Amino acid sequence: ATPMSVMVGVGKAAEAGVLIRNGQALQTASKITAMILDKTGTITEGTPKVTEVIPFEDMDEAEVMKLAATLEQGSEHPLAQAIVESARERDIKPGYVDDFNAIAGHGVEGRVEGRSLLFGNEKLMRDREIALDEHLEQAQKMAAQARTPMYLAADGRLLALIAVADPIKEDSVAAIRRLQKDGIRVVMLTGDNRDTAKAVAEQVGIDEFFAEVLPEDKSGKVAELQQQGEIVGMTGDGINDAPALALADVGFAIGTGTDVAIESADVTLMRGSLHGLADAIAVSRATLKNIR
Ligand code: ADP
Ligand code: MG
Repeated sequence: ATPMSVMVGVGKAAEAGVLIRNGQALQTASKITAMILDKTGTITEGTPKVTEVIPFEDMDEAEVMKLAATLEQGSEHPLAQAIVESARERDIKPGYVDDFNAIAGHGVEGRVEGRSLLFGNEKLMRDREIALDEHLEQAQKMAAQARTPMYLAADGRLLALIAVADPIKEDSVAAIRRLQKDGIRVVMLTGDNRDTAKAVAEQVGIDEFFAEVLPEDKSGKVAELQQQGEIVGMTGDGINDAPALALADVGFAIGTGTDVAIESADVTLMRGSLHGLADAIAVSRATLKNIR
C-alpha cells in the first residue's frame, strides 16, 4: 500500500476506536489467518466476583473470607481483587501475612497467625500434596458453569472452596462470530483450568482452546500456530500476555488493560470490545484492495 492509503486506513480505524501503531500492522492485519484470544479481561469483563464460599472444616464463611483476603491483599491478580472486594463488602478486614509469595499461574501462599496458608487452583494443591477428595467433584461442577474454583488450605489440610464468576462481555459472542465468518481460526488461551475454559469457550462459540497455560508459556502457543503456517493475531490485556503480543504477527491490546500489554501490542482496542478486531481487519483489507 502507498504511504497515503496507509495513513487513510489508520485514520479510518481510529474513528472506530482502533489505534494502529504502525503501517506494517495495518498491512499485516488483512493477512491474519488465526486469532488467539486471551480469556480473562479479553473475552470476559475481567472483573470476577465471588459467587460461592464453601467451608469444609469447622469454620464459617466470614473466617474463610478473612484468611483468603489476608493472603490476597498482596496480589494484583484479578482473582485476588475479587476476594479482597468480597471481604470488604462483608466488612471483613484482612489480617497480617508473613512470607507472602505469589506463585504465577497457581495462586498465593503465606503465614497467617502461625499457620501456613495456601490459596489457589487444583494444580497448586496437587503440587503441595493437599488431598482434594470428594471436593474435587464440587469444584468441577462450578467450573462446568464457567466459574473458577479456588482452594484454601492450611498446614496441609483443605479448609474451603471459593468460586468466582467473570461475566463474558456482552458483545464478545457477536465479535467472535464476525472473525469466524471472515474465515479466521479463533483460538482461546488461558491460564485457567480446563473445565472453566471449556465452558467459556462453548458459551462464546469457540471450539479450540489452550487451557492451564503458564504465563511464561503463552508466547509458545503463538509460536506453535506460526509453525503450522498461520499468520497469527494475538489479543490480550494482561502483563502475562505481553510476550505473546510481541511475538504475534499482529498484537492487539485491550485499551482498558495493562500498560505493558498496550506497549507490547501493535494495535490498541480503545473501546475494549472485540468488534475492533474485525473492524481492523476490514480496514486493512480495504486499504490493500485500493492500491491493487
Ligand atoms: P489467567 O490470567 O488466564 O487467569 P494466570 O496464569 O494469571 O492466568 O492464572 C492461572 C490460574 O492460576 C488462575 O485461573 C487461578 O486458578 C490461579 N491463580 C493465579 N493467581 C492467583 C491468585 N492470586 N489467587 C488465586 N488463584 C490464582
Ligand atoms: Mg487477561
